[in-house]
Amino acid sequence: MNIFGSGNHGSNATEMPPLVRPPAPPVQETQPSEPVPFARREESASPAGSAAEQAVEASVEAPAEARVEAPVESPVTETSYDDPEVVLGPTGRPWPDLPDPRPIGIHGNARIISMCNQKGGVGKTTTTINLGASLAEYGRKVLLVDFDPQGSLSVGLGMNSHDMELTVYNLLMQRDVDIRDVIVETSVPGMDLLPSNIDLSAAEVQLVHEVAREQTLQRVLQDAINIYDVILIDCQPSLGLLTVNALTASHGVIVPLECEYFALRGVALLKNTIDKVKERLNPRLHIDGVLGTMYDGRTLHGREVMHRLVEAWGDDVFHTVIRRTVKFSDSTVAGEPITEYAGDSAGAEAYRNLAKEVAVRCLDA
Ligand code: ADP
Ligand code: MG
Repeated sequence: MNIFGSGNHGSNATEMPPLVRPPAPPVQETQPSEPVPFARREESASPAGSAAEQAVEASVEAPAEARVEAPVESPVTETSYDDPEVVLGPTGRPWPDLPDPRPIGIHGNARIISMCNQKGGVGKTTTTINLGASLAEYGRKVLLVDFDPQGSLSVGLGMNSHDMELTVYNLLMQRDVDIRDVIVETSVPGMDLLPSNIDLSAAEVQLVHEVAREQTLQRVLQDAINIYDVILIDCQPSLGLLTVNALTASHGVIVPLECEYFALRGVALLKNTIDKVKERLNPRLHIDGVLGTMYDGRTLHGREVMHRLVEAWGDDVFHTVIRRTVKFSDSTVAGEPITEYAGDSAGAEAYRNLAKEVAVRCLDA
């Protein structure tokens, strides 16, 4: 259910225009390692001064003929053409200097951030666990909120969904439950969890009859704000009442987007929901960033999608991107963040970089 009456919109593959690529150059047997040309749309195909929303739609619907063959100019170039001293990051922008987050002595005054995308499997839960664990490594006190009835966050941190005495459901529906009795410690020092299981799906139905139904999560998190530095909410894959509760309780929202063609679909609707929550329920809500996940810089497709992401969202896109690697699934099975399961891996390093970026953008600012 959606308080704005739009229903649950996932991406709909049947509505997608076909992704037509320029014909591949003939394969020359003598030059097997010829680089793949990276096709870009002409500047004029992009509406001038367009909002992120329009740009997303435009880029999704751009006809194939608008995209022209260009010399190899990938956003993963390592140095800038204009200035060879400038190192470009995977988003094609100069890689910034990311200092370690400032050590802090006194905890509290938490920033609440929702991981939000109505599409499933884009890395919301993975980002919640690993961004949380990385911020905890940098000395922040972190609370993770499992706000998806599927309970993947809780399971991903090694909890058994049947063994939970109290969950977020009890916190939302029973006024006499204290948040401190629901919070559990995780294997990561400094990182705690508000667990959930399938019970939470009942809350979505029951909340409809509550007064101030959109503010319920905000109300119950009040007591945690003074204990933690960051509270990360792992949203369910829908734009229903639970997600609206998460956005209403939050200062910021991070949108993980899988670097895959269909991922751009539905983003305009998500932006619309964020705008409506901001307008009607939570004026402080800010887009803290858009995170490219499951990126594969070796493919033309991956680079093309990344290019469009930056075109549509500009500087809202984090410089850090999360590459596709099986280590994430392995660490989920192990019930640990990747920063603990494979602390030296590129995936762990990427989430530490994201933690630094989040700190620069909205924690230490
Ligand atoms: P969501 O919470 O948005 O549904 P998840 O974080 O649960 O998405 O990720 C979906 C699946 O993809 C999980 O099995 C997870 O282990 C895997 N995954 C997440 N991020 C990556 C990545 N960067 N590379 C490869 N697999 C990933
Ligand atoms: Mg999830």
